[in-house]
Amino acid sequence: MRNAEVQTSPFDQPEWRDIQALIFDMDDTLYTSPELKRAYRQAACTLIAEVKGIDRLETEDLYHRTRTLLAARCGYPPSNTLILHELGIAWEAWRDQTIRTIDPGSFLRQDPELMTTLSVLSRRYRLGLLTNNHRVHTDRILEILGVGPFFQAILTVSETGKTKPDPTLCSTMACLLDVLPEKCLAIGDEEGIDLIPARATGMKTYHVRHVSDVHRLREWFTN
Ligand SMILES: [Mg+2]
Repeated sequence: MRNAEVQTSPFDQPEWRDIQALIFDMDDTLYTSPELKRAYRQAACTLIAEVKGIDRLETEDLYHRTRTLLAARCGYPPSNTLILHELGIAWEAWRDQTIRTIDPGSFLRQDPELMTTLSVLSRRYRLGLLTNNHRVHTDRILEILGVGPFFQAILTVSETGKTKPDPTLCSTMACLLDVLPEKCLAIGDEEGIDLIPARATGMKTYHVRHVSDVHRLREWFTN
């Protein structure tokens, strides 16, 4: 049954019709790069090794055990920021480490299709970006992708010292966009980090499994 495969637009649902703002996650939502993700993990392990004074094998084991423990405790895959925090390493040290050792430009390139999608969506909706990355890499990644100017508000760990799933971040972003949470659609790849706290503040949510799911929003909007 071919018709059964046709997806209807969520924008046709009554509760989606009054959406005024789209709040995007960044990493693994606006882009996917296993190589950049690997570089972040390596940088985290290098920092752990330096701070703890342990060798590479011990560090890998400690990283893995901490990640597993946090995943069981939190119910979602923990970020590097959270893993390092659990090990007593502040996010500022992590920020400095990534700025020193990782250039996102080595892993990412301009994304014309994403530029088109966000340009189209920005004509109708206010766009916000809520990310657990820090400001320097966030600005750099958005610049490389070519989509920075489409966001009216950007909130990173650098401004708040907090990371998702802290639910106050969703409320803060809604305030920055001057839109009620109920009229916001949160868009992200992590159910536990991006979507559950957004729903807790009254937002609608949209789960991105691949960047193509972001483009589907444009297709639904323009059809
Ligand atoms: Mg993400």
